[in-house]
Amino acid sequence: MRTVIFWFRRDFRLTDNVGLLKAVASGARVVPVYVASEWKGRHGWTGPKRQAFLCACLESLSKNLEGIGSRLIIRRGDAITELERLVDELKAEGIYFNRDPDPFGKATEQRLTQLGERRGWICCGHKDLVMHEAAEVMTDTGNPYRVYTPYSKKWLLLDKAKPAGAVKTLGPAAEVPSLGIPTLDWWGLTTQADAQLPAAGERAARERMKAFITGDGLGGYAARRDIPSVVGTSTLSPDLRFGLISIRELHALATDRAAAEPSIAASAVTYMKELAWREFYMALLHYYPEVLSQDFSQEYRNVAWPGKEGGYEAWSKGHTGFPIVDAGMRQLMKTGWMHNRVRMIVAMFLTKDLHYHWTVGEQFFHQQLIDAEIGSNNGGWQWSAGTGADAAPYFRIQNPWSQTKRFDPDGRYIKHWVPELQHVPAERLCDPPKGLRLAPGYPMPVVDHSTERDATMARFKLGKGR
Ligand code: FAD
Repeated sequence: MRTVIFWFRRDFRLTDNVGLLKAVASGARVVPVYVASEWKGRHGWTGPKRQAFLCACLESLSKNLEGIGSRLIIRRGDAITELERLVDELKAEGIYFNRDPDPFGKATEQRLTQLGERRGWICCGHKDLVMHEAAEVMTDTGNPYRVYTPYSKKWLLLDKAKPAGAVKTLGPAAEVPSLGIPTLDWWGLTTQADAQLPAAGERAARERMKAFITGDGLGGYAARRDIPSVVGTSTLSPDLRFGLISIRELHALATDRAAAEPSIAASAVTYMKELAWREFYMALLHYYPEVLSQDFSQEYRNVAWPGKEGGYEAWSKGHTGFPIVDAGMRQLMKTGWMHNRVRMIVAMFLTKDLHYHWTVGEQFFHQQLIDAEIGSNNGGWQWSAGTGADAAPYFRIQNPWSQTKRFDPDGRYIKHWVPELQHVPAERLCDPPKGLRLAPGYPMPVVDHSTERDATMARFKLGKGR
């Protein structure tokens, strides 16, 4: 029997999974495989909540595969070593997979392709997790975009691939040894007992996607997406991160709904533009991988970021005395997700009020977010710090108090995540406390916003172009 391997990476679904469908179309028996890394905290690119979500996704995927007559083979270690071993055990013709745009994913693919060439295997990588890969969205002169708005205009105009169906059968199961579903013990991790993670797996993600598109989520998106106290955004970022839903299906559902209901078309376009941000940042990372260690903007590479003593500890624990910042950080710690508006506020606060280089916050987010995406996280942090491509200009520093007045005027978001402030009148959450604590046990602000704002402006002016 001819056999090929399908290597699951960050695409844990059976519906509209391009690489998996191609493997099935090859006519060979398809053996689904996942190789868990030996991460063990040696790098800071993930953390317990994300690994817990990953394990739950794998459990669900494994059941779904059993449901169609197959069996997920799980191995642990270096992906290339394990895949080579499996090709030999199964006498497989080759490996199908979906391409991963981040630098680590690409490096692994390169090693695999080289090995495949040496060993004479078929090695098939497919575009799956984006609508448009980096090289598809270029300026008219053939260069990568450095600015989002023209990028998004081009992105919106390009033809969009339509989703294909789901794989319905995939047997027979392979008789090779497999480890059980990974657990946090594999990496010596534990999550806090009160963690509130979303339901994992393809079915739960599809339900979230359908609820957003068919309910009032898509139509209300433009009006509500900046209000953190309501569910005004899709909350699908972890599902896109782990490939529990297909970008093509999400796009097609949104397009069809907007076509059927023209009154929501503008809101649907606002939503599509957010999907374009995700691919803009992936493209930046592709063409400028140095952004992982340096400011995108050369002009600001000599700005000093001394970091206020004790500031990082207060920020990361949600004890800064700035209610909106603390609410965001506590939401993150508990759920592994934070509303976009609040991500911007807390990121600007760490960089502009507490004077830490954005890499400090980027790393922390990577360890806490279940949707942590290398391109988007880097892009979001550099945008907030004022050092990124198409970033907020350095002198436009958001004031956390006026942001609260604008986006959480009744304090509902703050009171939900910072219960000690529950009985504080909402207007007191929108201004620095005048000498009096907002509530017993709640800290006074760790800094004065306008003093720190001036200090940041001065540092940027001094460091600029040095
Ligand atoms: P929606 O508002 O429903 O948007 C739809 C989808 O578009 C999202 O699921 C996401 O895939 C994409 N998207 C939306 N906004 C952005 C954006 N600004 N940049 C890139 N993609 C976007 N997003 C991540 O997916 N992973 C990250 O690690 C990440 N880190 C961030 C760090 C900072 C400092 C900032 C300011 C933003 C970051 N974002 C990140 C972007 C954004 O905050 C999240 O994508 C969004 O909050 C996810 O919620 P949602 O699915 O409800 O988004």
